[in-house]
Amino acid sequence: MPAPCYLCGEESTIDGLCASCYNKEHLLVQVESPLAIVTCKKCGSVKVPGGWRTIDFSEAHGDDVVNKQIEIGLDLSLKRFFGDVAITFEEENRLDRVSHIIVTAKGRSHESLAPHTENHPVEVRFSYETCTTCSMMSGGYYEAILQIRADSRPLSESEEEEIVAIVEELTIAEYGKDNRAFVSGSSRVKFGIDFWVGSEHLTKRIADELQSRFLAERKENYKLTGQEKGGKDKFRITVLVRLPHFRVGDFITVEGNACQVMAMGKGGLTCYDLIDNSRFTVTVKSAKWRTIEFLKPASARREYMVVSRGYGKPAQIMDSETYVMAEIEDSRLSPNIEAGSQIGVLVLDDETVLPLPYENSAAE
Ligand SMILES: [Zn+2]
Ligand SMILES: [Zn+2]
Repeated sequence: MPAPCYLCGEESTIDGLCASCYNKEHLLVQVESPLAIVTCKKCGSVKVPGGWRTIDFSEAHGDDVVNKQIEIGLDLSLKRFFGDVAITFEEENRLDRVSHIIVTAKGRSHESLAPHTENHPVEVRFSYETCTTCSMMSGGYYEAILQIRADSRPLSESEEEEIVAIVEELTIAEYGKDNRAFVSGSSRVKFGIDFWVGSEHLTKRIADELQSRFLAERKENYKLTGQEKGGKDKFRITVLVRLPHFRVGDFITVEGNACQVMAMGKGGLTCYDLIDNSRFTVTVKSAKWRTIEFLKPASARREYMVVSRGYGKPAQIMDSETYVMAEIEDSRLSPNIEAGSQIGVLVLDDETVLPLPYENSAAE
């Protein structure tokens, strides 16, 4: 017969106490109240020792932001006395900068006891500051200038759109990992775009991506801008990314052979050889890459109609706009192209009319 609990007189189960009194004497967690949480007025980040913790906006919207902030605050201040304790909380009410929550802990205070829940009312007091990132950003801080240009031509609208999307995507991806992952300014200049980027690391990541996506050239230039407090030299980096002159759909020569650019990206160029109708890939690091020369823009493509095809005779084709006739070797046309079909061609000169790939997805 166990002795009665020395606190309440019920049957004791452990250390002379009943389960309920044992649990009261051995709390699962301790939470301070009031709990002070400092958040950034602009981005919602929460001040933590040594910096700020960002909110993941891909999972938090509206009221969730406050819940995420409370979560971070609890994470910092809540003391757990046992392992494997699940913490949840519910907001009872909120008034301006004060929120009343009930924190619920669920777990075991002793391995021989069943899990139980414990409720702790907590008053959360919010105050606001501007986080380091937001103040640097609004102050126009930047570590690097990223300049994007194209080789002897302006950037096209679609290239600009794609570049801006890549910059945004990578900036968002670094959010929370790098507190200088922001773009504090950008400007469209005559032949391209400049971005002022808070972090050199982010700048290089963006440059890597643009380089691979557009097979661009890249130059980095460090400029001495002054000295840090300790006398160390301070540099600012400018990264120039220069897109090639040609784009998808344009005509180039590779080792002297006329080709159409079908696709580019991931460090390589897919070409269609207009003479032998083969497809091949040129990587930026290959010897072939250095033989590339620009031939004609994508707009040089012309539509022709096949007028007649005869066995062993050249096919007769006609420019659909000017009605000028031309001949091409019949073997150069796919057998399923009948008289009356439209084909795309590149007229190199009076002698050389080259049919273009049939599913010409490359032409814009
Ligand atoms: Zn008791
Ligand atoms: Zn902020």
